Amino acid sequence: MKKVKKLTKNQARDSRNQRRFDNFDKPKEEDNKDVQKRKVEIPNVLTVKEFSETSQIPVAEIIAELFKSGILATINDTIDFETAAIIGDDLGIEVILSDKKESDQKIESVVETEGNQKKLKPRPPVVTIMGHVDHGKTTLLDKIRQSHVADSESGGITQHISAYQVTLNNIKHKEIKNRTITFIDTPGHAAFSALRGHGAAITDIVVLIVAANDGVMPQTIEVIEQAKLNKVPIIVAINKIELPDANIDKVKKQLAEQDLVSEEWGGKTIMVPISAKNGQGVDELLEMILLQSDLMDLKANPDTPAVGVVIDSHMHKGAGALALVLIDNGTLRKGDIVQIGSTWGRVRIIENFAHKSIDEAPPATPVRIAGIRQMPDFGDKLLVFGSEKDAREAARVNQRKVGITNISTAKRLSEKDEEKVAEELRIIIKADVRGSLEALKKMISEIKSSDGSVKIISEGIGAVSESDVTLAKAIDATIYGFRIKELIAAKNFADNEDVKIKLYDVIYELIDDVKKELSDLLPPLIIEQELGHGKVLAIFRDDKKGMVFGGKVEDGKVVIGNKIKILQDKNEKWHGDIISLRKEKNEAKEVESGQECGIGIAAFANVAVGDEFLVYKIVEEKRVVE
Ligand code: GDP
Repeated sequence: MKKVKKLTKNQARDSRNQRRFDNFDKPKEEDNKDVQKRKVEIPNVLTVKEFSETSQIPVAEIIAELFKSGILATINDTIDFETAAIIGDDLGIEVILSDKKESDQKIESVVETEGNQKKLKPRPPVVTIMGHVDHGKTTLLDKIRQSHVADSESGGITQHISAYQVTLNNIKHKEIKNRTITFIDTPGHAAFSALRGHGAAITDIVVLIVAANDGVMPQTIEVIEQAKLNKVPIIVAINKIELPDANIDKVKKQLAEQDLVSEEWGGKTIMVPISAKNGQGVDELLEMILLQSDLMDLKANPDTPAVGVVIDSHMHKGAGALALVLIDNGTLRKGDIVQIGSTWGRVRIIENFAHKSIDEAPPATPVRIAGIRQMPDFGDKLLVFGSEKDAREAARVNQRKVGITNISTAKRLSEKDEEKVAEELRIIIKADVRGSLEALKKMISEIKSSDGSVKIISEGIGAVSESDVTLAKAIDATIYGFRIKELIAAKNFADNEDVKIKLYDVIYELIDDVKKELSDLLPPLIIEQELGHGKVLAIFRDDKKGMVFGGKVEDGKVVIGNKIKILQDKNEKWHGDIISLRKEKNEAKEVESGQECGIGIAAFANVAVGDEFLVYKIVEEKRVVE
């Protein structure tokens, strides 16, 4: 990984203070200088060499200035904007961020376009079916496809496809006849992950399938949590209703406990009883999806360059890198020059979900495209550019951004090292998709303990890599993976380096493990466990060697080897060890409630007749983070 040299907060502050100090007696000149400062535009990150070329300041001067601020950099090292700005200031130039990334501008333009109501047209809803395993998700998707995707289109599709559209030709209700719904069928919580133009999840509506004979299960709850987190409306499909042990009301009751109250019960959630197996209720479900989508007034502008999001990608022997992209806004056309994440290319082929070649794809269409250089990542944004040069540059900037986030996270961390408290569980989280990651982060942030905390050092999407292990090793962190794999090389590396990688498929199990690990880190609670108490009846001895008093055990017992407190009017006068214990003049190991005893303690305890004594032991109790 390429290192980005970056001033730490302290270095930046010191550098600024030094400058203030240097210019203390000449504020006016400084003001004048500021006015005349030459402006230099630079991107978010750049090499020292590039900075020198753009600013026309000799490399040596830049390196020297960096060195003054505590950074040892070479000509090919990368620095970030903030650092360049501070150094630039010292060198008499004003540094401005030029790469107000084209991608950002594009997104802004989408927003602007969307503001232009006239151009907006209704678009199909993007729907994801989710639920606990075996509750019938696949069966429902198949059923919808069988009944509503024309044979000519669906013919030949045998392999799993992660997105498709149904057009409701065979439906009775006139209002929704011929309308289209886009389904995405991605594993895990992909549907929540990638962001649409301005913050919403990739999916518009979640159909939560719950088997009526099984009820709400852990994954059902997980879907509800994620949907809530991402503010995606849920329509519940209560499935398998034709089974004799189906209990729709029970499911509704369980869902109500999760704050999903059905409309019939005065709530807001649409719940449709269905049988994915025999098709009962499925058309009503589709109708409800469209009703919900009408309520949401889903619109996009087809007359603008496309913005899309990657929902799948793979390498094809003949065609090269292929990306399955959901068009979010605009229309994608054959020949468009696109940037997708850190790759780019010219769209040579567009196929619809049925592998039919098409020339253009309007909003909410899932398409497979060929022509890009490398496989993009899930969630990468597709943007159309006017020239190959611009697309390439945008991809390059993105590549760098990937690098810088990691480095700066690590950097911030090592700064924090100094303030590190012992009871900080450091973790690195990797998840299958952005949505899972966000959900995990939220749940982890809710883990609270007065004596310890969980710190997410680094986060990311995709398999655990060797660089994760390196980071974990460096800062003594545990790696948590959610619905992902670890690369073999990373695993071996982790084994060698003694780095823990913990992989989970169920969010609650992962969270429980984080809690357990944090609990293990916390020092035990020291508590006084009361064994018994009683009254002092007589003082037998009180001299330099110690004190022996007679007392009656009123509750519990007195056991030799433990601790004792002397109380007067409930206030502690003294505490210490029980040195000796006698029962009827004989040495005893313990004396029970109701019996009298002689207790020997250290001198100067100042015990008086009538005082209370309390026998206790110190126990360590393991802390449990809830
Ligand atoms: P998934 O894991 O959620 O994708 O569940 P599947 O669609 O694979 O379904 C799991 C099992 O439930 C399969 O054996 C299906 O045949 C069965 N199943 C799905 N829907 C229904 C239904 O409506 N009625 C009945 N009786 N069985 C169903």
